[in-house]
Amino acid sequence: MASRSAPTTATLDDGDYVGRVHAAAESTTAVGAALARRLVKESGGRNTEARRNVLTCLIAAGRALSHAEIEAQLSDTDLDRVTLYRVLEWLVEQSLAHRVGGLSGFDRAMRFAFSRPERRSAHAHFQCVQCGTTMCLDDVAVPALPVPVGIELQGIELAAFGYCAPCSLANRALAAENSTR
Ligand SMILES: [Zn+2]
Ligand SMILES: [Zn+2]
Repeated sequence: MASRSAPTTATLDDGDYVGRVHAAAESTTAVGAALARRLVKESGGRNTEARRNVLTCLIAAGRALSHAEIEAQLSDTDLDRVTLYRVLEWLVEQSLAHRVGGLSGFDRAMRFAFSRPERRSAHAHFQCVQCGTTMCLDDVAVPALPVPVGIELQGIELAAFGYCAPCSLANRALAAENSTR
């Protein structure tokens, strides 16, 4: 049997990886509003502007956002804090978003991320220790955990931390600059 080569993993040296991430973010912004509209409509719940706006915000971000970040991004709408909390609760109930919390890389602020309909399984999260960017690692599945008999698991949270690609690149540029002085 021919052995298949291991999938290539993107490393932080891979400038193309950063480009792809940015390109993906841009295309997500373009289709985010349409996708949000469709998903809120398909949920069968009330199709409110606040629900569509918050979901669009999460889709376009391509990462997990805190309450404050969502509020800032939607500051030109009349979304108030109570409505935002309710909308986020609703999105989580509908499995359109999930909570990302308790990470210790940068802070422990509760964040919310879009749950892509085709990728709703448990996955790991990453937090940048320098800028706090928090994102889903959709391709990193949470492993089964052999817990002692009698324990009824409700979930596992797998968190990774380090420097995000932009921070890593910026740090290297700074280090290179300093070394040539
Ligand atoms: Zn960062
Ligand atoms: Zn996630």
